[in-house]
Amino acid sequence: AAKQTGEPVRRWTPALDERAGEFVRLGAEIRAALDNDQFRVVYQPIVELPSARVAAVEALVRWEHPVRGLVSPAAFIPVAERNGLIVELGEWILRTACHRLAGWRVELGPAAPDRVSVNVSARQLARPHFAATVAAALADSGLPASCLAVEVTETAVFEGGQAVVALHELRALGVRIALDDFGTGHSSLGLLQTVPVDILKVDKSFVDNVTEAGRPTVIADALYQVSAGLGLLAVAEGVETADQAEALHRLGYRYLQGYHFGRPVAEPEFAPATAVVAVA
Ligand code: C2E
Ligand code: CA
Ligand code: CA
Ligand code: CA
Repeated sequence: AAKQTGEPVRRWTPALDERAGEFVRLGAEIRAALDNDQFRVVYQPIVELPSARVAAVEALVRWEHPVRGLVSPAAFIPVAERNGLIVELGEWILRTACHRLAGWRVELGPAAPDRVSVNVSARQLARPHFAATVAAALADSGLPASCLAVEVTETAVFEGGQAVVALHELRALGVRIALDDFGTGHSSLGLLQTVPVDILKVDKSFVDNVTEAGRPTVIADALYQVSAGLGLLAVAEGVETADQAEALHRLGYRYLQGYHFGRPVAEPEFAPATAVVAVA
């Protein structure tokens, strides 16, 4: 018998229904992709000026779908976050990245990057034993904690709670904390008073127009001054041109990431890049 509580009956429009179906279908496919080894991790260089040596890499996940080809993380990470599979996928990414850098350190010695930066979702960070998971990944790979950074977004930590507890625990291990997409959240500066942070990743939206005088440069400048004043490292993201790199360098930025220096690839080139910016 139908419920007679007076609650409005939820009507599923075809569009809603389609989206729900797509969500369930994609979720099942992510589950299968984990079992069938369809995920890869690629690494994008973060270069240090003025030498443009690769000081660090950011680990970014890729899904090599047998039919659809390469699926963007923007399409499946949000689904994995909602259905909880990000916990398993994220741990696999973390372990893969730690093993990769440990391997480069053996193969390349001092030419290996100092650090690998791994994106961590709110859902992972909020789990009670996240720091223990990280400690286990470090121990199994033999990677020193100081060679790992976790990238968290402002939204993952602004409510405080277990996420911030986890950041303190990670810090105690010696892992660096990077605030991702910095400046795009709703309490960017306030967070710096309450959340342990080592690195600010200044969002691409502040880098795009940094070659224009006026507002864009003022904002990129201010974000750099905040990082410097607090003793944090600033990494500018999404640097696509030599002009942007030079403008950022003039503002004081020493760590840059973006297509101008290299796209995310399985095996980055760790020799100093040829695209060295002019040193003032
Ligand atoms: P994000 O963490 O902000 O990563 C930076 C994104 O910008 C990457 O996209 C990277 O390929 C792209 N990018 C880097 N340089 C440039 C540039 O010069 N120009 C432009 N237009 N784009 C650039 P990607 O790999 O598609 O990842 C998109 C987002 O998906 C990431 O944004 C992150 O939020 C999420 N994501 C990727 N991998 C992971 C992961 O392993 N775990 C989690 N939780 N999220 C991930
Ligand atoms: Ca990131
Ligand atoms: Ca980012
Ligand atoms: Ca982003």
